[in-house]
Amino acid sequence: METAQKTGKIVKVSGPVVEAEDLLGTSMYEVCRVGEEELIGEIIRLLEDVATIQVYEETAGLKPGETVIPTGEPLCVELGPGLIGQIFDGIQRPLPALVTEVGDFIRRGVVASPLDHSKRWAFVPKVQVGDPIGPGDVLGEVKESTLVTHRVIVPPLITPGKVKTIVEGGEYTIDEDICTYMLNGEEKPLKMFHVWPVRTPRPITRKLPSSVPLITGQRIFDTFVPIAKGGTGAIPGAFGTGKTVMQHQLAKWSDARVVVYVGCGERGNEMAEVLLEFPRLEDPRSGEPLMNRTVLIANTSNMPVAAREASVYTGITLAEYYRDQGYDVALMADSTSRWAEAIREVSGRLEEMPGEEGYPAYLGSKVAAFYERTGRVQTLGSAERIGSITVIGAVSPPGGDFSEPVTQNTLRVVKVFYALSKDLASRRHFPAIDWLTSYSLYLEDLESWFVENIASDFISLRRESMAILQKEKELQEIVQLVGPDALPESERIVLEAARMLREDYLMQNSYSEDSFCPLDKQYKMLNAILMFYHKMQELQDQGILVRDLTGIPLYDKVSRMKWYLGEEFEQRLEEIMKDIQELSPETLAEKPESS
Ligand code: ADP
Ligand code: MG
Repeated sequence: METAQKTGKIVKVSGPVVEAEDLLGTSMYEVCRVGEEELIGEIIRLLEDVATIQVYEETAGLKPGETVIPTGEPLCVELGPGLIGQIFDGIQRPLPALVTEVGDFIRRGVVASPLDHSKRWAFVPKVQVGDPIGPGDVLGEVKESTLVTHRVIVPPLITPGKVKTIVEGGEYTIDEDICTYMLNGEEKPLKMFHVWPVRTPRPITRKLPSSVPLITGQRIFDTFVPIAKGGTGAIPGAFGTGKTVMQHQLAKWSDARVVVYVGCGERGNEMAEVLLEFPRLEDPRSGEPLMNRTVLIANTSNMPVAAREASVYTGITLAEYYRDQGYDVALMADSTSRWAEAIREVSGRLEEMPGEEGYPAYLGSKVAAFYERTGRVQTLGSAERIGSITVIGAVSPPGGDFSEPVTQNTLRVVKVFYALSKDLASRRHFPAIDWLTSYSLYLEDLESWFVENIASDFISLRRESMAILQKEKELQEIVQLVGPDALPESERIVLEAARMLREDYLMQNSYSEDSFCPLDKQYKMLNAILMFYHKMQELQDQGILVRDLTGIPLYDKVSRMKWYLGEEFEQRLEEIMKDIQELSPETLAEKPESS
């Protein structure tokens, strides 16, 4: 692409937005260097020769008359080995590198290369001279971290050709030509990295059905509100209800190969905590540092709003790149409300017609376009490769009011709704996800996966549990009106079963050994609780009351199920199932059974 050489002139500065003239020939979303310090900005409105530019850096001190240099390029990211383990800001400037370069804050106008161009990577070629290659084909592999093998792929949009030269296995920097190919009699080079504009979705071959769940090890998610690989979900919740804890749980435990975590600090020091905490987290499956499969994008609260607006696109583009390599990627955004607020602020500076609560009318389409970049897909390339991007976005509605525009626009597009409840959080029921109002539109698509991979009755157990919990809610209303004594015995049994489901099953402390619960264990726990429930019903017919049962040791054992791990769980479960089976008026009368 040609670089426009001419420069414009600032006429007006309004917070993160700058107006400049003499910019005829530039285009929308073109990146400009703004002012004497050459701050990084992007054209977001063009009227003849007057451009409105959102600036990704603090604009204090910027004055009318200073120059604007258009670069001729849209906002792009560098894609290649070296992304994993990195912490970037919203426009992919590496944070630690900047920190060492300029002190503990990012100085304005600093251009730091996103990837390390001097590092040598051990490249293993996967093509031979003469092979036909095209977009998405794997040229070779690089061990990017202990957990991720980077597939060096031919960039999208390249016209297919034939391999002319390919380097031998060995160490190369990302700037070296590792491969050349012939196109129309001309020899073209390829490197281990390429650039891609963040606002343009990367092409795929085709979308695939959402038929495989993303396993999270969180019982409320996997059992009751499952999300598909490639799916979309939102966690709206008031301040302090557990959005960030849940996002961290998903980053840690979900069975995605690569995690992209976009953090927009809610509170002043929250992002700083993430920056400190993430590098210390361990990948529970391998024991390796979690950062070995994670890319962090951090908007600290001292970064300007426009960078926050861009960070979401930077994040999803990195996610698409690993999806294109054939990996399952999970992207967490905490919180998308901060992103929407950035959109609102810029829109306000543009003096656009404000819509509901000051958000521009296009908020909905922006949110939809972002979530549209998810999916489980067949990637580009001649070999069949499947990759996916699952996005779970936290939303922080002011006061926890879900009727506000960001929550509403998000719920319109996502297929899973995890409703955080202030009430549950205040009762210390964690995760504070309301099982009755939350929903997953993937239940049906995932049904056969659960039947084939977990158990044929998994779905019916879930359904019955949900019915019990629903019934509990109705009964609670009656109890509030007339007191518990008015309930018949059969309904007390329902309340007891519901209590077990809530306390012994749904409650799952993220800071305990119960932090991750394998799917198979989830099934067995649920099965045991429902067995117990059925036994209570059976015993009722024989004259046994709920209160005759609540004191027995079996109760205690059931409530401890979640704390037993691995082999011990299997042993205890066997005992529990046997105890339940043997429970009868006789055994109850005979002995206070020993545990
Ligand atoms: P938010 O991001 O919604 O403001 P946080 O994720 O910071 O809220 O959670 C607030 C607090 O709630 C946490 O510090 C923790 O004490 C508690 N909490 C939330 N979820 C859990 C959980 N699953 N297990 C244990 N504690 C939790
Ligand atoms: Mg939070």
